[in-house]
Amino acid sequence: MTSEKETYHIEIETEETLSYQPGAALGIMPFNSQEAVDEIIRLTGINSQKQIQTTKLTASVQELLHKHLNISYLLKSVVAQYAKITGHSIPDVRLGLLDLLRIYPVKGPDEFEQVIKILTGQSPRLYSVSSSLEAHGDTEIHITVAKSEFFIDDQKQNGLCSGYLSQFKEGEELEFYIQDAGHFKLPEPEKDIIMIGPGTGIAPFRSFLWERDATGAEGRNWLFFGDRNFISDFLYQSELIDFLKTGTLTHLDTAFSRDTVEKIYVQHKLKQKAQEVFYWLEGGASVYVCGTKDPMSRDVEETLLDIIQDEGRRSRTEAVSYLEEMELSGRYAKDVY
Ligand SMILES: Cc1cc2nc3c(=O)[nH]c(=O)nc-3n(C[C@H](O)[C@H](O)[C@H](O)COP(=O)(O)OP(=O)(O)OC[C@H]3O[C@@H](n4cnc5c(N)ncnc54)[C@H](O)[C@@H]3O)c2cc1C
Repeated sequence: MTSEKETYHIEIETEETLSYQPGAALGIMPFNSQEAVDEIIRLTGINSQKQIQTTKLTASVQELLHKHLNISYLLKSVVAQYAKITGHSIPDVRLGLLDLLRIYPVKGPDEFEQVIKILTGQSPRLYSVSSSLEAHGDTEIHITVAKSEFFIDDQKQNGLCSGYLSQFKEGEELEFYIQDAGHFKLPEPEKDIIMIGPGTGIAPFRSFLWERDATGAEGRNWLFFGDRNFISDFLYQSELIDFLKTGTLTHLDTAFSRDTVEKIYVQHKLKQKAQEVFYWLEGGASVYVCGTKDPMSRDVEETLLDIIQDEGRRSRTEAVSYLEEMELSGRYAKDVY
């Protein structure tokens, strides 16, 4: 059975030695495809080597379009500026530059030069680090990337950066920066942790587990993982089973939503273990949630509140304060997107 989704485990070897904590993320600046850039140059007739000064830098048209400017899914405000420059009447929508040029062509290279100057800079995308410095060394770093897919007029499209990363060939170079773990970091080694990370939300928890395994941390580790199907979507299954065998993982609870008639998600598994979860919380465990913001992290938070309310015999308001106090003291952290 093949998965309906594409998820990539990517290992990056670095020239310089790295320094990061589990919970950190990589910032990656995607490049636009050379085919798209060639097509833009063909449609506009602009000289690809012409140097152009934008608000941030001066570079050739080729370099600006390939590395520095966003050409996909332009903001409505940019589309409106495009309409103004070209004199076309364009609906108030977000569109890619290529579509704009095909449907509402520019009059020539000079007009396109004005268009280049209104394009916004490319934004980096963040990916949770899924490796541990202690376990994997300081010249290697891993990420776990789900290829983002969506449809336009029944045509499957990919997100820019995840599409770009999914096509990476072994040996190709990649530039990135490391964003600090911030609030999303491991507690003292003797403290227990509960990790809730369906899908790619597992990435930082793989890092946590490898780190705790490599450093012999004594605190107990409980992971709630979920995805669509057990057979095709159980990310890092063999590693997790090994962690269970060695005792690094105390508990592993999984929810595969498409394997059952009634969809089961991580929050349902959490609820099933309400008593023990609350027991861990009362014992000082930290709770981490990573993955999709909506609805996953909201449903998980509601479930945590239910557990605190029911098991702790508190009112809803008291349960909210309980979780807020955990958050303030760094015992409840979310990295959701
Ligand atoms: C702290 C943090 C950690 C993260 N960790 C991970 C991780 O470990 N693994 C992971 O896979 N992701 C992670 N992400 C998400 C990741 O940063 C990206 O947001 C994700 O990969 C999508 O980026 P993209 O460039 O592929 O898609 P984008 O091109 O940015 O597109 C994103 C969405 O915009 C819409 N869209 C884009 N273009 C069009 C269009 N032309 N028409 C209509 N709609 C469009 C689609 O809905 C699409 O799915 C994390 C995010 C944060 C903030």
